[in-house]
Amino acid sequence: MKILVLNSGSSSLKYKLFSEGEAVADGIVEHIGEEGGVKDHREALEIAEKALIRAGAVESFDRLDAVGHRVVHGGERFIEPVRIDSEVIGAIRDLIPLAPLHNPANLEGIEMMKKKVPHVPQVAVFDTAFHQTMPKRSYLYAIPLEFYENYGVRRYGFHGTSHMYIAKKAAERLGKPLKTVNLITLHLGNGASACAIEKGQSVDTSMGFTPLAGLVMGTRSGDIDPEIPVMMEKKGLDADTVLNKQSGLRGLCGENDMRRIQERAAAGDEKSRTALEVYVHRIRHYIGAYMAQLGRVDALVFTAGIGEHSPLVRQMVCRGLEPLGIVLDTKKNADGRRDISAPKSQIRIFVIPTDEELEIALQTEAVLKR
Ligand code: ADP
Repeated sequence: MKILVLNSGSSSLKYKLFSEGEAVADGIVEHIGEEGGVKDHREALEIAEKALIRAGAVESFDRLDAVGHRVVHGGERFIEPVRIDSEVIGAIRDLIPLAPLHNPANLEGIEMMKKKVPHVPQVAVFDTAFHQTMPKRSYLYAIPLEFYENYGVRRYGFHGTSHMYIAKKAAERLGKPLKTVNLITLHLGNGASACAIEKGQSVDTSMGFTPLAGLVMGTRSGDIDPEIPVMMEKKGLDADTVLNKQSGLRGLCGENDMRRIQERAAAGDEKSRTALEVYVHRIRHYIGAYMAQLGRVDALVFTAGIGEHSPLVRQMVCRGLEPLGIVLDTKKNADGRRDISAPKSQIRIFVIPTDEELEIALQTEAVLKR
């Protein structure tokens, strides 16, 4: 089976082709709709197709067995991936108010592909779907209930495809069925989120109504006192821009690339060191909260750019958590091993590379076989 996975953003199109569950080629078309760049998503798809043909990955998009699309927001409607038809397209469009930047770009990819190869089945895989199992006490905000009832204001959570993928992999490592394991998963990339998983299902996550909430990220603030944006607006600033683009690690030390932050901290830069400490403190805050929520935890899982590649962050996160049953093996951690827990650790500590595209391909295939 040949499955093309598309992640269609407002100015970029990422694509990856899978054949019988193996990635065979991928690429990215950038600067869509920008001056001097690619005109539109239709043209971007043409470029992607040509590149995949050149790579010998597929003869033409006509010959694909399916297309899996990453769709950011599935609201409360989509609790699992679905085959795309005009009704589903309408529903994704209805969710635009909840994801004004992402859903229109995702739809663009879907509609262009539908025009190009109408006979090829297409599946939407939602970033929010995995978290739809959260109970009300996790997803409701303590604001007037009308905001939830009339405008859908609640915690949705994102990165669901990644959390689900690493949860499955962690269950395999534990040698237990997914539906029996309790996990705390940490997706630490440019965007970052934590997830509490009970019996294989998401019961809480750190991102909220939007991907701005929760952990400290590259340029996003994560959790803050809700009065702060009010104060920023009073000062004439655009709070949305400050909190999404100028905050997080960048706001604290002027840099959002963790590698450089670590280098600068090691060289004695005070701001970088403090940024790292704030970053780690927030993660530990969520680990504690989720341990209280879950009771028993089988494994703590690190993934994404920082989670997979920064022994320092993992060590700082785990430091002092021994009384909670989290005991890191510092050597295994430094060596980049996949199981980094000490033998006496009650909670296993895993590093599991995430693969959202593969998970989208797997889910796409599963939907077609349903
Ligand atoms: P995205 O969310 O854009 O997919 P990634 O998952 O690739 O991002 O994560 C990007 C982050 O991972 C950056 O902050 C980068 O500095 C960090 N990172 C990548 N490699 C390393 C490394 N070896 N050590 C520390 N941080 C790393």
